Amino acid sequence: MEPNYRRCISCRRVAPKQAFWRIVRVYPSRQVELDRGEGRSAYLCPTQSCLQAAQKKNRLGNALKTAVPPEIYQALWQHLSNHQASINSKPRERIASDSEPDAGQNCTRCHSGFHRGTANPNSAEQQGECQNSK
Ligand SMILES: [Zn+2]
Repeated sequence: MEPNYRRCISCRRVAPKQAFWRIVRVYPSRQVELDRGEGRSAYLCPTQSCLQAAQKKNRLGNALKTAVPPEIYQALWQHLSNHQASINSKPRERIASDSEPDAGQNCTRCHSGFHRGTANPNSAEQQGECQNSK
């Protein structure tokens, strides 16, 4: 294996280590951490199939020779869904919810709630203007 290449514990694919998640059994505390600390490391493709195999067949636990806390798997699943969300979907557009249902009564230019002079047929408000926009 070339330097900086690692092997996935699930599918045994070899790739540069940056392509993998790194799960570490930190020395000497034996805490399992994600991509943090020094100790015994396992590498896993950031894919659903490899994560599933690592969890169901306990490949991660076997590779690290320790019990992997469920929080680690939860965090990895979270990583996975975040990753896919950033690929598959655009950021959601905010739905404007601050406009009142009766916004049609507001001035079309200044959007203020006060539209003076509607009683005067000759006023500029007939063309959708109001004092605030001048
Ligand atoms: Zn893999």
